[in-house]
Amino acid sequence: MTDLSRRKMLAGTAAGAVAMGAAAAAKASSFGNPDNPPEGRINSTPEANAEPGPQNAATKAIMPDFDNPPPTDIAGMPIPWQSFNLAHKRIQNGGWAREVTTKAFPVSTDIAGVNMRLGPGGVRELHWHQQAEWAIMVSGDCRITTIDTQGRAEVSDVTKGDIWYFPPGLPHSLQGLGEHGAEFVLAFDNGSAGEFNTLMVSDWLAHTPPDIIAQNFGLPVEKFKEIPTEQLWIYQGAKAGPLAADQAYAASPAGRPDHPFIFRMSQMVPTMSSKFGEVKIVDSHNFPISKTVAAALVTVKPGCLREMHWHPDADEWQYFIQGQGKMTVFNTGPEAQTVDFFPGDVGYVKKNLGHYVKNTGKDDLVFVEIFKSDHFSEVTLSQWLANVPRQLVKEHLRCDDATLDAIHKLKERRDIVGAIDAR
Ligand code: MN
Ligand code: MN
Repeated sequence: MTDLSRRKMLAGTAAGAVAMGAAAAAKASSFGNPDNPPEGRINSTPEANAEPGPQNAATKAIMPDFDNPPPTDIAGMPIPWQSFNLAHKRIQNGGWAREVTTKAFPVSTDIAGVNMRLGPGGVRELHWHQQAEWAIMVSGDCRITTIDTQGRAEVSDVTKGDIWYFPPGLPHSLQGLGEHGAEFVLAFDNGSAGEFNTLMVSDWLAHTPPDIIAQNFGLPVEKFKEIPTEQLWIYQGAKAGPLAADQAYAASPAGRPDHPFIFRMSQMVPTMSSKFGEVKIVDSHNFPISKTVAAALVTVKPGCLREMHWHPDADEWQYFIQGQGKMTVFNTGPEAQTVDFFPGDVGYVKKNLGHYVKNTGKDDLVFVEIFKSDHFSEVTLSQWLANVPRQLVKEHLRCDDATLDAIHKLKERRDIVGAIDAR
């Protein structure tokens, strides 16, 4: 049965309880509430379910499925939800950044997220990481610079919907362009990495003996007497000049890198598309440099569902860009936890745990799925059940022949399925 029809059934039961004056708890039927003791508002009374104590109404509003969980949820799982809007923002002249790492989001062991803003001319200083850096532009325009281990440099401009990938250890800088600067979200392939613990040129030079710096560049020591003694991190720089001029100045005698560090994700043909939504997959197959991060940009139409599935090869980190949705994560135990997502929120699903993502809003739901892997992979429930012997499906679902016929037709992966009313 679908989520929608299950809701209708539960809603009908709840209405019956109200008609009875709610003297007794309505009981959820065994379907949709399989475990003991019975959980969920449907099994309680309005008086017993009241919250006479203090409430933070604003916090409550961001997670309706904490306040009123489906009776199918079973508490105990690490919460697969966080938000950049609940993260401290480090603000400096030129821009800001905030991060969601294992400090605030312990389950996210494979991926850490950073949300950064660079105003016009704002620079994230020359730096590098022990981790790989994947990023998606969410607003404006940005100039990136980097160089590979063979001394081959790249200077490129990226815009909304573009992504970049810097392998671990390759140095880079970022600068906001034009009248509006840039905003983007970074993903590091280590959940404890962050933007506040990076290797920076300013820090290194400030902590190197001046005579060593002078010898390193073969210049008199007094030429370096003005170097910053504190880290720049983000600073307000002069506005960037024309791209071609920067590319010419930075051009290396060793030539260009083998593979570009950027990918125009917004311009790619979707990997999968239907009237219910689309999926764009970018991994090392079409973006060869991205050897440790695979990504999917997912659009789910209103009422539609990113179908029930799991990922056998990697944990999934999610960043929600537009619209609103909900997800339930299923684990051994059994455990099941439903969470709600709004733009700016982050989700996380451990490798092999079952989940779906449903669009619960009136507009398109858009989010990215990130995996610490060179490839995207998943197993879907419907494709699995369409491709096992009929008797096994009948015994597990206890459904009629017409239902078995319908499930048998779901041989191909669909990724996104329609609202039940649209069928
Ligand atoms: Mn970086
Ligand atoms: Mn998934």
